[in-house]
Amino acid sequence: MPDRDYLDWPFFEPHHRVLARELDAWAGAHLKHAHGPDVDAACRALVTELGRGGWLRHAVGGTKRAIDTRAICLIRETLARHAGLADFAFAMQGLGSGAISLFGSAQQQEDYLPRVADGSAIAAFALSEPQAGSDVAAMGCAARRDGDDYVLDGEKTWISNGGIADFYVMFARTGDGGGEGGRGSKGISAFIVDAGTPGFTVAERIEVIAPHPLARLRFEGCRVPAAQRIGEEGQGFKVAMATLDVFRTSVAAASLGFARRALDEALQRARERAMFGKTLADFQLTQAKLAQMATGIDAGALLTYRAAWLRDGGKHVTKEAAMAKLSATETAQQVIDAAVQLFGGQGVVSGETVEILYREIRALRIYEGASEVQLLIIARELLAGEGSR
Ligand SMILES: Cc1cc2nc3c(=O)[nH]c(=O)nc-3n(C[C@H](O)[C@H](O)[C@H](O)COP(=O)(O)OP(=O)(O)OC[C@H]3O[C@@H](n4cnc5c(N)ncnc54)[C@H](O)[C@@H]3O)c2cc1C
Repeated sequence: MPDRDYLDWPFFEPHHRVLARELDAWAGAHLKHAHGPDVDAACRALVTELGRGGWLRHAVGGTKRAIDTRAICLIRETLARHAGLADFAFAMQGLGSGAISLFGSAQQQEDYLPRVADGSAIAAFALSEPQAGSDVAAMGCAARRDGDDYVLDGEKTWISNGGIADFYVMFARTGDGGGEGGRGSKGISAFIVDAGTPGFTVAERIEVIAPHPLARLRFEGCRVPAAQRIGEEGQGFKVAMATLDVFRTSVAAASLGFARRALDEALQRARERAMFGKTLADFQLTQAKLAQMATGIDAGALLTYRAAWLRDGGKHVTKEAAMAKLSATETAQQVIDAAVQLFGGQGVVSGETVEILYREIRALRIYEGASEVQLLIIARELLAGEGSR
């Protein structure tokens, strides 16, 4: 088994260490569904399997339990190391229900969270739009109050689990944004929309380099009861950002899992590959590369688990979560690229583990805030604060 020295770091409590080790053993035995040509079926099977194994309980909070960010991060790191789609299935149950865990009414939590936790309902988080990706405040989706209902109109895109989700936490404009031409982060509200609600359709399925369910969604006169609104009217931006503060850190953790797997593969290859009468590992150029890979991973991991530990301690972690995501995802991309290089031609053969990792890592530098957006967040927090702490 690859070493798990980082579990001894002081960020964790004993139950976190037990969780990571048990999941590692479980994943080795249970992730047969993590592959296959039908990505929707594979995802559904993974959600069922992860629910049955009890792992999805850690993805949800609510009135009975707080979200344990370190547990979520350790689970994502461990699953990503075994199979990217398993990490995706777990992460989306958390991201898709996070707003309900953090801000939902007791009734909403009762209606949705147990089903997310046991894997009987699939969740999705619908924030991005064709004209509002990095620039969330440019959101155009509208929610108009009509008696006891809201009527939703507009489009969302790049929505993970789009097409297979049982419900979508979506964000729409209920009032003036506070900026020029009505745009801005004010006046946004969050809603739960069940799949099958009249006026809601999946407009297009989108194929990406690391296949997983992804879609563009359309809302046309889609009527939802006001009881489906999460939190207060106009609180949606805060709801979205608080959810992202948890799950952004977990994106960093997933990238660590991909990077550690790439390092494991590279170490094995370097030891075994014979060349010039020696092995690849005997050359100092290779040793330097491996050392850089391991050092980069640990630096990203320290930032990631610092952010998770601080959040679990009740601290405001917008800056720390952004630092973790920026550092871990960018480093993971470099580590995986280095692993592909160490494999030579074999590294780009379809289905080779490092080739799969090369495709898996790419989107993590873009979604839940591209690296450039993380830089802006870090700078904004620094400039708004009193110093470099
Ligand atoms: C695989 C995948 C899954 C996704 N899943 C979801 C999901 O489940 N739910 C959801 O709501 N969204 C999801 N997204 C959307 C994702 O969050 C957006 O793609 C992301 O926010 C970037 O928005 P955009 O694609 O519109 O790019 P744009 O906003 O057009 O940005 C393009 C690029 O511009 C650069 N950039 C951005 N801002 C600045 C700046 N201020 N200065 C300089 N450069 C800048 C960045 O490099 C960025 O990548 C997903 C995306 C992908 C690829």
